[in-house]
Amino acid sequence: MENYNENNIFAKILRGELPCQKVLETKHALAFHDINPQAPVHVLVIPKGAYISLDDFVSKASNDQIVEFWRTVGEVARLLNLTGSGFRVLSNHSADAHQEVFHLHVHILGGRPLGPMLVGGDIPPDGTWEPLG
Ligand code: AMP
Repeated sequence: MENYNENNIFAKILRGELPCQKVLETKHALAFHDINPQAPVHVLVIPKGAYISLDDFVSKASNDQIVEFWRTVGEVARLLNLTGSGFRVLSNHSADAHQEVFHLHVHILGGRPLGPMLVGGDIPPDGTWEPLG
């Protein structure tokens, strides 16, 4: 994995160089609406620290940062009234998951039935791929 790039879009949002539609800010995390929503509610939660991905975050961040980050994810879901109807949380890590912005972010999606788990568009319909592990 490459080094953290200080010029990624979310680093610019954190420095106030780019705007965002803020939902919630805590000591270690920021939540804002996704610019290209894939559901009626589509919010991103990012840590304020410079972490590329979930793997980078959980291996390097302090317990305080990790706990507060996940609490913020839960708080956002509550704030946006998603806990009753349901919501999905996902984070894309690196190439196979099609990560586009290399600052850790968790997507919170909801506001309508989301269907079964997202698996991407290129899975052969006959299931010719073998499950790993
Ligand atoms: P990912 O594929 O998980 O890296 O997703 C990156 C997400 O960031 C996408 O859903 C984009 O729509 C979203 N995004 C990109 N630029 C911005 C921005 N300036 N403000 C809010 N969301 C953004």
